[in-house]
Amino acid sequence: MLEVANLNAWYGRSHILQGIGFSVAKGEAVCLIGRNGAGKTTTLRSIMGLVPKRTGTVKFKGEDILPAPTHRRLGMGLAYVPEDRRIVRGLTVLENLRLGLVASPNRHREGEIIDRIAETFPRLRERLNQAGDTLSGGEQQMLAIARALAADPQLIMLDEPSEGIMPVLVDEMFELFARLKREGLTILIVEQNVERALALADRAYIVDQGEIVHSGGAAELLANPEIQEKYCAV
Ligand code: ATP
Repeated sequence: MLEVANLNAWYGRSHILQGIGFSVAKGEAVCLIGRNGAGKTTTLRSIMGLVPKRTGTVKFKGEDILPAPTHRRLGMGLAYVPEDRRIVRGLTVLENLRLGLVASPNRHREGEIIDRIAETFPRLRERLNQAGDTLSGGEQQMLAIARALAADPQLIMLDEPSEGIMPVLVDEMFELFARLKREGLTILIVEQNVERALALADRAYIVDQGEIVHSGGAAELLANPEIQEKYCAV
């Protein structure tokens, strides 16, 4: 479903991604792991077209999307939940959810989609008219995920979803990811919580200094403390 080859990206003169390549098959959950600053977020941002200077190929469902404007990806079924969540201040939970539909082919089915989301996220259902930025950190993360799911993506990219969230909500969130995967959603996740991410994922790639330095089955990596110590410690 997603094929990344020889992906390079720059911030100013800094050459951050240096030939990243990996793939995600339909229905898979794949994890990118690596130390802080390794280039995981930049990889997701480049796939979304949010890093201005980028080269290589990013094929989504066979089409090279790297040169396409960011909003085109949503209509094609690719969703992104950024690390900083981007909940819009001053808008309610419901209004934030509606934003997820703006560039989506689902925008005409708003009522039905909001009902479905409210069922999946009971915490949000109780707070639909509350200002989005007054939610707890974990609830804001749920809202960011719900907003991305509103467009019915085929592949969702999640950047550090468990960061700064209390353990009970992290449990809830990973149960949701496992359920979404069982229902057929393809997942690409960046996560510092390596054990949890590897428990969800089928496969993982280790990113170090803008390159993929190792890849393997999630179970194999979970059982490999040396690799985890070398590349995954913060
Ligand atoms: P983290 O877990 O800390 O987010 P990461 O693996 O996601 O780590 P990136 O955020 O992709 O790493 O950062 C990769 C490198 O790019 C780092 O050296 C970082 O300082 C640099 N970088 C990230 N964003 C910018 C930016 N907007 N301008 C300049 N350099 C940046």
